[in-house]
Amino acid sequence: MSIPSNTQPYDLLICGGGLVGASLALMLKPLGLRVALIEVIKFQGAGHPSFDERTTALSNGSRRVFEAIGVWPLLQRAATPIKRIHVSDQGRFGFARLSAQEQGLAALGHVVPNWHMGAALWQRLQDEQIELIAPARVVQLSAADTTRRVTIEIAGEQRELSARLIVAADGAQSLLRDAAGIASAQQDYGQTAVISNALTQRFHDHVAYERFTSSGPLAVLPLSDARVGLIWTVPTDQAATVMAWSDEQFLSQFQQAFGFRLGRLLKVGARHAYPLSLIRAQQHHAPRLVVMGNAAQMLHPIAGQGLNLGLRDAASLAELLADALRTDASFDPGAEALLSHYAQWRQQDSQRIVTFTDTLVRLFNQQLSVLKIVRNAGLLAFDLMPSAKNAMAQLSMGASARIPRLARGAPL
Ligand SMILES: Cc1cc2nc3c(=O)[nH]c(=O)nc-3n(C[C@H](O)[C@H](O)[C@H](O)COP(=O)(O)OP(=O)(O)OC[C@H]3O[C@@H](n4cnc5c(N)ncnc54)[C@H](O)[C@@H]3O)c2cc1C
Repeated sequence: MSIPSNTQPYDLLICGGGLVGASLALMLKPLGLRVALIEVIKFQGAGHPSFDERTTALSNGSRRVFEAIGVWPLLQRAATPIKRIHVSDQGRFGFARLSAQEQGLAALGHVVPNWHMGAALWQRLQDEQIELIAPARVVQLSAADTTRRVTIEIAGEQRELSARLIVAADGAQSLLRDAAGIASAQQDYGQTAVISNALTQRFHDHVAYERFTSSGPLAVLPLSDARVGLIWTVPTDQAATVMAWSDEQFLSQFQQAFGFRLGRLLKVGARHAYPLSLIRAQQHHAPRLVVMGNAAQMLHPIAGQGLNLGLRDAASLAELLADALRTDASFDPGAEALLSHYAQWRQQDSQRIVTFTDTLVRLFNQQLSVLKIVRNAGLLAFDLMPSAKNAMAQLSMGASARIPRLARGAPL
């Protein structure tokens, strides 16, 4: 455990060492700023809620970010390329296919277990000797003239730390977002994602499946050891029942919803449930504070965009700080102009992704037959209209607005 003793203000304090906060700390390392990362739960192998049994579909942009911060080489063995995406609608003819080859790409993205991402990120934090204040909980935020202060609880004591910029990367229930007076809107989808992994009779052949069923959308993602990751969105009032099913019952119900594209489902792992809401911060910044990742927006996982967007939040801030360091003799990481620029950039990207994801959720939840027809036309249209297909592929690949340099494979 590191207990900070120095009372000098930091340039940046990153609060929250989940996937986004830990990645930001690594992105900032080459800038030579005084940065510390505060995290309430020290990563010590299994049992960290951000680095759990989930699997994440990483866009190519996110892969490039992980390459830039030296995380990708540690993940490569556990990362499974997605060569094709197959979207279908239970009981309907419409389906869409996206292929990496058609897009001239080696892969549309990669599926990586969250646990591996956590292990790789924390390994890199140690390699790079990034100041890690953990386990420590941020409990309060206050303002000073040219800095902001956070109060942390560490080893049973309270300490105050100050920084010229505070980064709130403390997740969907962000204490810092609320303490900074940034309002957030929450909308419960009434759905819960039940996740697991399974062994299938046939090899997945690097295809990711997304299927819309009467109970909600489900996804089957290719994994590295010929297993697949399962994400099944069910109405929240049925989630307890689904969680209580025996493995056999779960496999048979999932099989019925998914069909036999991968033959029979043979064996299933442990199940975990995640209630789904859209939570959105109304602003991306306050004086000397920015929000990013789930603290800025928590999305439905239907389109696999949450982490990809969060990494672009982090890469955008890193880029603006790098540019300011190069050009501004009186560099101040918490300068209002810099933070407004960050907020404007992130607002655009976030708006597009939130709208895309939310529309997808609503469209596929409609019970009206007329919408079902439109929905089928929409799905078929992806296959018939190259432009619509390209737009979908661009989103899958993380290309939706101005793209930060790190996500394009360029140096900071
Ligand atoms: C079922 C499911 C599937 C998903 N699939 C995908 C996908 O395929 N692709 C994709 O891009 N995204 C996906 N996502 C979204 C993705 O998981 C999130 O966007 C991502 O984990 C957000 O990371 P974060 O670091 O912003 O937040 P978090 O992971 O919530 O991290 C916040 C961190 O802050 C710490 N913290 C909180 N409060 C304090 C405090 N007071 N003091 C100190 N530390 C604190 C926490 O301990 C935690 O480590 C999925 C989500 C779900 C639920």
